[in-house]
Amino acid sequence: MTNIYLLPFEENYILIDTGVKKREPAFFAFLNRHDIVPDKIDYIFLTHTHYDHTGGISLIKEMSHAKIMVHTKEAGYLRQGFTPVPRGSRASTKVVAFLGRHFFKNLNRYTPTEPDIVWEDEPYHPEPFPAQAIHTPGHTSGSSTLIWKEKMAFVGDTLFGIEKEDCFPWFVNDTETLGKSWEKLLDSSCEMFYPAHGKPVTRARLERSYRKHFRS
Ligand SMILES: [Zn+2]
Repeated sequence: MTNIYLLPFEENYILIDTGVKKREPAFFAFLNRHDIVPDKIDYIFLTHTHYDHTGGISLIKEMSHAKIMVHTKEAGYLRQGFTPVPRGSRASTKVVAFLGRHFFKNLNRYTPTEPDIVWEDEPYHPEPFPAQAIHTPGHTSGSSTLIWKEKMAFVGDTLFGIEKEDCFPWFVNDTETLGKSWEKLLDSSCEMFYPAHGKPVTRARLERSYRKHFRS
């Protein structure tokens, strides 16, 4: 349902997001299979704080002692364990968002968690990793991207990789702001964009989606 990514550098790792609730055993089994001790994870970078990105956070933090990094605009949500349901960007997801807001609020709750690094000035550089965190709002106000080695961008829900061509997210709080964030991504040197939902998106595909949604 949600992709999470573990990025290696020398002996250590950054984890991007912590997935949905109750999937922690699968994550620890993965680490075990690859002979990775949880303690080697230095940071947990949150692209934002929706429940499907923060589900395993308290246990993964406890096991790894990793520092949780979150943009300042999402820190309050993380502390309360609840992030407002985003707006749907198409008829079907508008219905999902409506139901989420009015009937299934508890589904969106997760364990309230204290972040270790609340960042605002960008790019934020988590030493010593070859990574830069940048603010890419639109899906939510604190949505962020981790740029890895100036080539790969881990974008959370700033793009979706579910459809064959269009990578416009199915949920967007602020479309105009999202367009600015897409420009920021296109201004970077990244060639591949790794979303939390679906498959990686190429620069060419992001350019085409950008023209379709923001240049017509
Ligand atoms: Zn989201």
